[in-house]
Parts: sequence; structure tokens; C-alpha cells
Amino acid sequence: MCGVIGVSGVSDAARVAYLGLYALQHRGQESAGIVAVDPVGRAKLHRAMGLVSDAFTEASLKELTGDVAIGHTRYSTAGSTVLANAQPYLVNYHAGPLSLAHNGNLTNANELRDKLVRDGALFVSTVDGEVIVHLIARSKAATIDGQVRDALEQVDGAYSLVISVGRTIYAAVDSRGFRPMVIGRLGSGLVVASESCALDLMGATVVRELLPGDFVKIDDGKILDLPRLAPRRVSRCVFELVYFSRPDSTIFGESVNHVRRELGRQLARHHPAPGADVVFSVPDSSNAMALGYSEESGIKLDHGLIRNHYVGRTFINPVQALRVQKVKIKFNPVRDVINGRSVVVIDDSLVRGTTSKGLVGMIKEAGAREVHFRLASPPITGPCHYGIATPTREELIASSHSVEEIRQYLGVDTLEYLTLGEMIDGAGRRNEWCHACFSGDYPTPVQLTLGQLRHSSPPVAIPL
Ligand code: AMP
Repeated sequence: MCGVIGVSGVSDAARVAYLGLYALQHRGQESAGIVAVDPVGRAKLHRAMGLVSDAFTEASLKELTGDVAIGHTRYSTAGSTVLANAQPYLVNYHAGPLSLAHNGNLTNANELRDKLVRDGALFVSTVDGEVIVHLIARSKAATIDGQVRDALEQVDGAYSLVISVGRTIYAAVDSRGFRPMVIGRLGSGLVVASESCALDLMGATVVRELLPGDFVKIDDGKILDLPRLAPRRVSRCVFELVYFSRPDSTIFGESVNHVRRELGRQLARHHPAPGADVVFSVPDSSNAMALGYSEESGIKLDHGLIRNHYVGRTFINPVQALRVQKVKIKFNPVRDVINGRSVVVIDDSLVRGTTSKGLVGMIKEAGAREVHFRLASPPITGPCHYGIATPTREELIASSHSVEEIRQYLGVDTLEYLTLGEMIDGAGRRNEWCHACFSGDYPTPVQLTLGQLRHSSPPVAIPL
């Protein structure tokens, strides 16, 4: 997953983009980058591995002069963790410097890339978004708007992206609208960001969210709506609300905090834990859910687990053995909240089960009399092809184990998940959702790898 930022018509645009990237750090921690374009159209790029705070120094920001900038934070879902795969890309285009920052995952990138390579294209990275740059460069359309559009219409899957060509910024969201994107006003300039929380930090006010298929051009403080991309069946990623986006953001027209609270209420309504003494979250992504559970059930909310904020997400650690140990680095139980009590533990999702198993062990060691584990989403049974870094099907515990088997593995007294319908009720019926990782209903045809072919219910191509 990734975070993207665009800034236009704001002095010291790179510093504003830097602030925006800070607010989008949760969307990607592997690398960060900014391209800035000065008033005569010269572009400079700085990108580096690591967190935003590590990737930039005062000196590197000083070099990025200009009033136009685009920025990116990356967590790889396609392509490996190397600097060549960090974004934004910056290339020389006939119409001036062209840069691109992409959030999402293109499902036909391999096919397009093979064709481009056969036609002589030279790729510098292994990231799917690079095909867009090549497609723009090879387009025969008469205008730059047309060339960008031409490229966007050839790629399939998920993209919420910003592209700068010279001093113009284009922003687009694929027609299924998997990933969020919002435009804001900052003085006489404009900004674009993956989530509204970034606008708050940049000091911008929301103009509007980009809707599925929106394709806009930003120049001289003005937004020009270009003809929309060809319509597809809308499928907003429900996992953005469940886990990924920040609770202080509004995405897809919904307050993330509000939805998470409602998911917690849904859990309390449909999956109660009668007789429990206390409810607490696995911080931080399920804090609002535990609050909702408490409000609905009347069970007292407390802080049963304390999270160390200076540790990266345990999920990211690629070595299984290290991941288990890292749980202890990241969380510690509060004994006086837990000791002798029947506790309800709320988490947003269960992926591999390793973090949760470690947590349950700690909660029991802290003296819990009973542990009732509640999940604010259904079992995850398949990988995401649209940008969320879920592991392979084999590693997803719910792809091969029943709820009862998972309960035994975790060692809890009861384990209950929201059903698909309960989760969608909580997320709201105003949107149409992608829930492929829970249901196996993939909204696009996906290029299958051997691992993915083993998914019990093969991806379903929904006719347009
Ligand atoms: P586990 O117990 O190992 O299945 O890990 C579950 C935890 O991973 C939950 O607390 C989730 O908040 C978190 N999680 C879910 N999806 C992701 C993801 N794509 N990246 C990182 N963490 C995730």
C-alpha cells in the first residue's frame, strides 16, 4: 500500500508535501520520495529508503525548490524493497519532466510490461506503476491530457495516482474506486492526498473526494475536470475502513472513526460476551471498535494492552520467527486491568494469527480468567490483488482452518468474527464494496500466479 500527495501553486511545495507524507506514513514505511517542479518547469527528485523522517534532511528539502510537488510513501505489494522501486518516478518526457506517484496495484501490469519490453521499452524498476509512464510516452493521442488518459484506460486494477507533466498535475482514481483520494485548497493553491488526515496537517481544507473514474487536471490553482474514465462496477476497498486508513480521515464519504465504532457496535450486537468484566482493544487500529463494543454492550472499556509506538508494524517483518518475538516488543499487557478478569479483546482483523496468538499468551500470563476474542471483520481467506499487502493464501490462517481450529490455536475461550453482511452494514450501504479478501469475489480478472491458483474459490470476473 502507498500514500500519495500532490501540491500545486503553493510556495515551498516540497515542504508541504513532506508534511502530507508524514500524515500518510501509516500507508507505507519502506521508502519516501518527493519531486518538486520550479517556476520554469525544472524538476528535482529526492527519494530514499525508510520512514519520511529518515528519508529527508533539511538539506535535501532545500534542494527541492518550486511551487509544484508530488510525493509518495511506499509499502511494496508489487516489486521488491529497493531504492529503484521507490517513487515518485521522474523521467524526461517530450512535454517536460514527468513524474508519477501511484497507490494501488495494477492487475494487468505483467501482461502490459511484457508487451512493452518486446517493443523495446527499458524498465528501471519492477514496480507495476512504471508501465503507466511507458504507456503515456508511447501514446499516439494528440494532447498530453489524451496521452495520460490513453495510458489510464489500458491499465486495470486499482490506482489512485498523481502525475505531474511539467507544472501540471493530473490526479485520477480508477473507475472501481478501490483506493481513496481527496483534493484540498491551500491558500490560492491546491493539494491532493490519499487521505483527508494529510490535508489537516498541510493546513488545507477539503474541496472534494475524487470519485471512482474521476480524472482531473490541476493548474494555476484551478481544478479542471477531464472526461471521466470508462465506468466500471464500483468496488471501494472495505479494508481501508476496517484497518488501513487513519481514523481521523474521511474516506469514501465515511468517517473512518465512525465506521470503526459502528463495527464495534455490530460485534457487540451479534457476538456478545455475557458476563465479561472488561473490554479492550489491540491498539491502535481497533481502539474505536472497542469503544463501540463497550457503548453497545455496557461492558467497561479499559486499556488492557499498551503499544510501543517506536516499533514498525509486526506484520512487515518477513521472518516468521522474528515476528513472534516482535509481538512482545510491540505490546505489553496492563496487569491490573486483566488479572482475575473475564476479558473481551477486540481486533480489527486476523491475518496469519501469529500476532494474536502471542497477545493471547501475554493476556493469559497477566492473569485473565477468560479470554473472548472478537474480530471486527470476517475471516480473511484470500490475498488482495488491489494493493493491500496480505500474505499468500497459505499464510492466511482462515484459508485452511475453521473458526473452531483458530480458536484452539489462539487458546481463547471464545472466538467470533463479524459476518460479511454485518461488516458491510457497519461500513454503510451507501457504497459498493470490494470484499474479495473475505469473500473470494474479485471485481477484476486477476493474473493468477501458482500460489493464488490454490485459492479455494477462484477469482470471479464480474461482467461490466
Ligand atoms: P495476526 O494475529 O498475525 O493475524 O495479525 C493481526 C494483526 O495484523 C491485526 O491486529 C491487524 O490490525 C493487523 N493487520 C491486518 N492487516 C494488515 C496488513 N495488511 N498489514 C499490517 N498489519 C495488518
